[in-house]
Amino acid sequence: MHKLIFATNNQHKIDEIRSISNIGHEIISLKEAGINIDIPEPYNTLEENATEKSKVIYKLTGRDCFSEDTGLEVEALNGEPGVKSARYAGEENSFEKNIEKLLLKMQGIENRNAQFRAVLSLMLNGTEHKFEGVCKGTILAYTKGGKGFGYDPIFLPLGANKTFAEMNMEEKNKFSHRKKAMDKLVDFLNTSSKKNST
Ligand code: IMP
Repeated sequence: MHKLIFATNNQHKIDEIRSISNIGHEIISLKEAGINIDIPEPYNTLEENATEKSKVIYKLTGRDCFSEDTGLEVEALNGEPGVKSARYAGEENSFEKNIEKLLLKMQGIENRNAQFRAVLSLMLNGTEHKFEGVCKGTILAYTKGGKGFGYDPIFLPLGANKTFAEMNMEEKNKFSHRKKAMDKLVDFLNTSSKKNST
Protein backbone atom coordinates (compact mmCIF):
# COMPACT_ATOMS: atom_id res chain seq x y z
CA MET A 1 0.00 0.00 0.00
CA HIS A 2 1.21 3.53 -0.83
CA LYS A 3 2.63 5.15 2.33
CA LEU A 4 2.08 8.79 3.22
CA ILE A 5 3.67 10.60 6.15
CA PHE A 6 1.23 12.93 7.91
CA ALA A 7 3.32 15.92 9.00
CA THR A 8 1.67 16.63 12.34
CA ASN A 9 2.28 15.97 16.00
CA ASN A 10 -1.44 16.36 16.78
CA GLN A 11 -2.71 12.88 17.73
CA HIS A 12 -6.36 14.01 17.36
CA LYS A 13 -5.76 14.88 13.71
CA ILE A 14 -3.99 11.56 13.08
CA ASP A 15 -6.88 9.63 14.69
CA GLU A 16 -9.45 11.57 12.64
CA ILE A 17 -7.66 11.01 9.34
CA ARG A 18 -7.19 7.31 10.12
CA SER A 19 -10.89 6.99 10.96
CA ILE A 20 -11.77 7.80 7.34
CA SER A 21 -12.63 4.34 6.11
CA ASN A 22 -11.87 4.52 2.39
CA ILE A 23 -8.42 6.17 2.39
CA GLY A 24 -6.63 3.26 0.73
CA HIS A 25 -3.20 4.72 1.63
CA GLU A 26 -1.19 3.96 4.75
CA ILE A 27 -0.92 7.01 6.99
CA ILE A 28 2.39 7.18 8.88
CA SER A 29 2.72 9.58 11.81
CA LEU A 30 5.88 11.64 12.35
CA LYS A 31 6.63 9.53 15.42
CA GLU A 32 6.37 6.31 13.37
CA ALA A 33 8.64 7.86 10.73
CA GLY A 34 11.20 8.51 13.50
CA ILE A 35 10.90 12.28 13.25
CA ASN A 36 10.82 14.28 16.44
CA ILE A 37 10.54 17.95 15.58
CA ASP A 38 8.17 20.79 16.31
CA ILE A 39 7.32 22.07 12.83
CA PRO A 40 7.08 25.87 12.75
CA GLU A 41 3.93 27.72 11.63
CA PRO A 42 5.50 31.14 11.00
CA TYR A 43 3.15 32.61 8.39
CA ASN A 44 -0.08 34.63 8.36
CA THR A 45 -2.08 32.26 6.16
CA LEU A 46 -3.15 28.64 6.52
CA GLU A 47 -1.90 28.00 2.97
CA GLU A 48 1.67 29.17 3.66
CA ASN A 49 1.88 27.28 6.95
CA ALA A 50 0.60 24.07 5.36
CA THR A 51 3.22 24.40 2.60
CA GLU A 52 5.98 25.05 5.14
CA LYS A 53 5.10 21.94 7.13
CA SER A 54 4.95 19.53 4.20
CA LYS A 55 8.12 20.94 2.62
CA VAL A 56 10.08 20.65 5.89
CA ILE A 57 9.13 16.97 6.18
CA TYR A 58 9.76 16.30 2.48
CA LYS A 59 13.25 17.84 2.76
CA LEU A 60 13.99 15.68 5.81
CA THR A 61 12.71 12.39 4.40
CA GLY A 62 12.43 12.64 0.61
CA ARG A 63 9.18 10.70 1.02
CA ASP A 64 5.59 11.45 -0.02
CA CYS A 65 3.90 13.35 2.78
CA PHE A 66 1.15 15.80 3.56
CA SER A 67 0.42 18.42 6.17
CA GLU A 68 -2.67 20.21 7.34
CA ASP A 69 -3.34 23.66 8.76
CA THR A 70 -6.78 24.54 10.08
CA GLY A 71 -8.36 27.72 11.36
CA LEU A 72 -11.70 28.62 12.89
CA GLU A 73 -12.94 31.71 11.02
CA VAL A 74 -15.63 33.72 12.83
CA GLU A 75 -17.65 36.05 10.59
CA ALA A 76 -18.33 38.78 13.18
CA LEU A 77 -14.61 38.85 14.13
CA ASN A 78 -13.41 39.31 10.54
CA GLY A 79 -12.09 35.76 10.33
CA GLU A 80 -10.47 35.59 13.77
CA PRO A 81 -8.97 33.46 15.30
CA GLY A 82 -8.15 32.04 11.83
CA VAL A 83 -4.51 31.20 11.37
CA LYS A 84 -3.95 32.02 15.08
CA SER A 85 -6.49 29.41 16.25
CA ALA A 86 -3.95 27.24 18.10
CA ARG A 87 -2.38 30.09 20.04
CA TYR A 88 -5.33 32.49 20.28
CA ALA A 89 -4.98 32.94 24.05
CA GLY A 90 -1.19 32.56 24.17
CA GLU A 91 1.75 30.35 23.32
CA GLU A 92 0.72 27.52 25.66
CA ASN A 93 -1.91 26.35 23.11
CA SER A 94 -4.60 25.67 25.73
CA PHE A 95 -7.94 24.56 24.24
CA GLU A 96 -9.83 25.80 27.34
CA LYS A 97 -8.21 29.26 27.35
CA ASN A 98 -8.73 29.68 23.59
CA ILE A 99 -12.43 28.88 23.99
CA GLU A 100 -12.70 31.20 26.99
CA LYS A 101 -11.15 34.07 25.03
CA LEU A 102 -13.38 33.51 22.00
CA LEU A 103 -16.59 33.29 24.04
CA LEU A 104 -15.66 36.49 25.88
CA LYS A 105 -15.02 38.31 22.59
CA MET A 106 -18.36 37.11 21.26
CA GLN A 107 -20.41 38.16 24.27
CA GLY A 108 -23.42 40.15 23.06
CA ILE A 109 -22.67 39.45 19.38
CA GLU A 110 -25.73 38.13 17.56
CA ASN A 111 -24.04 36.91 14.38
CA ARG A 112 -22.58 33.56 15.51
CA ASN A 113 -21.68 32.31 11.99
CA ALA A 114 -18.28 30.66 11.66
CA GLN A 115 -16.45 28.07 9.63
CA PHE A 116 -13.58 25.68 10.05
CA ARG A 117 -11.26 25.80 7.06
CA ALA A 118 -8.63 23.10 6.55
CA VAL A 119 -5.82 23.39 4.02
CA LEU A 120 -3.89 20.24 3.12
CA SER A 121 -0.53 20.38 1.37
CA LEU A 122 0.53 17.16 -0.35
CA MET A 123 4.11 16.59 -1.51
CA LEU A 124 3.92 13.86 -4.13
CA ASN A 125 7.16 12.92 -5.93
CA GLY A 126 8.53 16.31 -4.88
CA THR A 127 5.66 18.42 -6.24
CA GLU A 128 3.15 20.25 -4.04
CA HIS A 129 -0.64 20.02 -4.43
CA LYS A 130 -3.13 21.80 -2.16
CA PHE A 131 -6.69 20.90 -1.10
CA GLU A 132 -9.26 22.79 0.97
CA GLY A 133 -12.21 21.69 3.08
CA VAL A 134 -14.76 23.97 4.76
CA CYS A 135 -17.35 23.22 7.43
CA LYS A 136 -19.86 26.01 8.12
CA GLY A 137 -21.66 26.34 11.43
CA THR A 138 -22.29 28.52 14.46
CA ILE A 139 -20.54 29.29 17.72
CA LEU A 140 -22.53 28.48 20.87
CA ALA A 141 -22.37 30.72 23.92
CA TYR A 142 -21.31 27.78 26.14
CA THR A 143 -19.40 24.50 25.82
CA LYS A 144 -21.23 21.24 25.12
CA GLY A 145 -19.73 17.74 24.90
CA GLY A 146 -16.49 16.12 25.96
CA LYS A 147 -15.11 14.49 22.81
CA GLY A 148 -12.77 15.85 20.15
CA PHE A 149 -10.34 18.73 20.64
CA GLY A 150 -9.80 22.46 20.15
CA TYR A 151 -12.98 24.44 19.58
CA ASP A 152 -15.16 21.32 19.12
CA PRO A 153 -17.27 21.95 22.28
CA ILE A 154 -18.55 25.34 21.03
CA PHE A 155 -18.97 24.54 17.31
CA LEU A 156 -22.35 23.46 15.98
CA PRO A 157 -22.01 22.39 12.33
CA LEU A 158 -24.73 23.56 9.92
CA GLY A 159 -27.38 20.82 9.65
CA ALA A 160 -26.33 19.08 12.89
CA ASN A 161 -28.15 18.99 16.21
CA LYS A 162 -25.06 18.50 18.33
CA THR A 163 -21.59 20.01 18.62
CA PHE A 164 -18.47 18.37 17.22
CA ALA A 165 -17.56 17.50 20.83
CA GLU A 166 -20.77 15.46 21.18
CA MET A 167 -20.04 13.42 18.06
CA ASN A 168 -17.93 10.31 17.60
CA MET A 169 -15.43 10.44 14.72
CA GLU A 170 -17.76 8.77 12.27
CA GLU A 171 -20.40 11.44 12.93
CA LYS A 172 -17.86 14.29 12.81
CA ASN A 173 -16.62 12.98 9.46
CA LYS A 174 -20.06 13.62 7.93
CA PHE A 175 -19.48 17.36 8.40
CA SER A 176 -15.75 17.78 8.94
CA HIS A 177 -13.57 20.28 7.06
CA ARG A 178 -10.63 17.89 7.45
CA LYS A 179 -12.57 14.96 5.96
CA LYS A 180 -13.72 17.09 2.99
CA ALA A 181 -10.15 18.19 2.24
CA MET A 182 -8.86 14.63 2.72
CA ASP A 183 -11.48 13.26 0.30
CA LYS A 184 -10.14 15.64 -2.37
CA LEU A 185 -6.54 14.60 -1.64
CA VAL A 186 -7.40 10.89 -1.85
CA ASP A 187 -9.35 11.41 -5.12
CA PHE A 188 -6.32 13.20 -6.52
CA LEU A 189 -3.93 10.42 -5.45
CA ASN A 190 -6.17 7.72 -6.88
CA THR A 191 -6.55 9.58 -10.19
CA SER A 192 -2.78 10.18 -10.47
CA SER A 193 -1.94 6.56 -9.72
CA LYS A 194 -4.42 5.40 -12.37
CA LYS A 195 -2.86 7.78 -14.91
CA ASN A 196 0.63 6.48 -14.05
CA SER A 197 -0.42 2.86 -14.45
CA THR A 198 -1.88 3.34 -17.97
P1 IMP B 1 -3.29 23.72 13.55
O1 IMP B 1 -3.89 23.39 12.25
O2 IMP B 1 -2.55 22.57 14.14
O3 IMP B 1 -2.53 25.00 13.55
O4 IMP B 1 -4.54 23.87 14.53
C1 IMP B 1 -5.09 25.07 14.84
C2 IMP B 1 -6.03 24.97 16.00
O5 IMP B 1 -7.34 24.97 15.44
C3 IMP B 1 -5.96 23.74 16.89
O6 IMP B 1 -5.08 23.89 17.97
C4 IMP B 1 -7.38 23.65 17.41
O7 IMP B 1 -7.54 24.52 18.50
C5 IMP B 1 -8.16 24.20 16.24
N1 IMP B 1 -8.71 23.11 15.41
C6 IMP B 1 -8.19 22.57 14.29
N2 IMP B 1 -9.00 21.61 13.80
C7 IMP B 1 -10.04 21.55 14.66
C8 IMP B 1 -11.20 20.73 14.71
O8 IMP B 1 -11.46 19.83 13.89
N3 IMP B 1 -12.03 20.98 15.75
C9 IMP B 1 -11.80 21.93 16.69
N4 IMP B 1 -10.74 22.70 16.69
C10 IMP B 1 -9.85 22.52 15.68
